[in-house]
Amino acid sequence: MIDIDDLAADLADAIRERDVFAAYQPQISLDTGRPVAVEVLCRWQHPVIGTISPETFISVAEQTGQIHTLGALMLGEALDAAAGWRAAGSDIQVAVNVSPLQIAEPAFLTHLEGELRRRELDSSALILEITESLPLVGSRAVIDLLRAIRTHGVGLSLDDFGTGHASLEQLESLPLSEVKLDGSLIRDGDAHTDAAVREVMTVARERGVRIVAEGIETPAHLARVVELRCDRAQGYFICRPRPKADIDRLLERGSEVAQGFLIV
Ligand code: C2E
Ligand code: MG
Ligand code: MG
Ligand code: MG
Repeated sequence: MIDIDDLAADLADAIRERDVFAAYQPQISLDTGRPVAVEVLCRWQHPVIGTISPETFISVAEQTGQIHTLGALMLGEALDAAAGWRAAGSDIQVAVNVSPLQIAEPAFLTHLEGELRRRELDSSALILEITESLPLVGSRAVIDLLRAIRTHGVGLSLDDFGTGHASLEQLESLPLSEVKLDGSLIRDGDAHTDAAVREVMTVARERGVRIVAEGIETPAHLARVVELRCDRAQGYFICRPRPKADIDRLLERGSEVAQGFLIV
């Protein structure tokens, strides 16, 4: 059994030693088949345990307060990468997962503004992914903060839609630019899920909210989200999360797309 205090202590070392780092997973436009965004996913290479999943250590970081340092590290990496890609002539966007605890931190917006300004980076290069677990999601303060983020031109995506309590209501009340349909919605494929997906898509369309399908694992999944007219797709079938150098290469070469997947 791994002790949570041990893990927290190791995580502090890992953050300092940069054993925590970013992997990048492309999203393609379903209009052009080209990569238009990359999601930044945190990885921890532990010297003894090996690779630890973010599903494990993000919650540890949230419990210990380390999520703020970790989140700032990932945001910094993502914005460095975006600035490099933009300088090289690509207009690819980076999508960064943010914990509800980061959003709840009063200094978050100032930090975000500073990070964008320091790199002279157009704020449209960044998308923040939030989840429905956002506490006080209906609260004035949180909505105001999310609005301020959007006013800056930063994108706001509702992640994992369809896995929990996210509702059409949230889709209508949050200042979103995007919703990510969870892979389970696509993989299910039964009539009930289908109807639910179509309803979400109708509401999203009405509000000008982009729809990204995630968890695309097979050609059939891809065909399905094309048919559903989603805007973007992401998943193992298209491209696995990769080290930054692979994405550099992908963008340099103008990225070949063959039968729906990206050749890196
Ligand atoms: P998420 O934001 O929903 O990210 C997508 C997850 O699905 C990633 O898992 C990705 O590797 C995985 N995935 C990609 N394509 C496929 C596919 O075709 N099929 C399946 N089954 N899975 C696919 P990962 O990297 O293990 O991350 C898990 C979760 O951890 C993320 O879910 C996100 O909620 C959280 N997370 C990751 N990095 C960060 C971070 O920097 N900060 C915060 N706060 N949370 C993070
Ligand atoms: Mg995400
Ligand atoms: Mg997700
Ligand atoms: Mg998730």
